[in-house]
Amino acid sequence: MERSLVLVKPDAVERGFSGAIIGRIEEAGMKLIALKMLKLSRENAEQHYSVHSEKPFFPGLINYITSGPIMAAVFEGEDAINTIRKVMGATNPEKADTGTIRKDFGTDIERNAVHGSDGPETAAQEIKLYFSGIELQNYARK
Ligand code: UDP
Ligand code: MG
Repeated sequence: MERSLVLVKPDAVERGFSGAIIGRIEEAGMKLIALKMLKLSRENAEQHYSVHSEKPFFPGLINYITSGPIMAAVFEGEDAINTIRKVMGATNPEKADTGTIRKDFGTDIERNAVHGSDGPETAAQEIKLYFSGIELQNYARK
């Protein structure tokens, strides 16, 4: 059983795609165990994307991800990290497969609608950044 931290990014929240994006991941069999709406501070955004701090796109990414409210969610399931990244599609929506979240809801390589953890260690760190233990629910997905 794996967990993954998912963000519905500001462009997708603003255009009313929060429910559709969370729904796509539930439809892929993943169990939603935490969900909230928040607005990231620059400090928290820089922490979330610290691995990219030296990239040319970093300043733009921080401006974008702090530009409006986001949805933060935790999903649990078998092979959750890879399953969710497949449903998300490639980073660049133009290159994403048909039927993926980024193909259907993304705008461009920056404003690509959704984030999903890329490995078990990053997932654990990211989940801690957004949620406390009592916010993670335990129930049987039917
Ligand atoms: N990003 C960007 N320009 C790029 C590459 C990435 O603005 O050339 C943004 C985009 O929002 C992406 C995030 O930075 O989702 C993190 O980049 P990463 O390469 O980790 O892509 P992901 O893991 O989200 O597919
Ligand atoms: Mg990444």
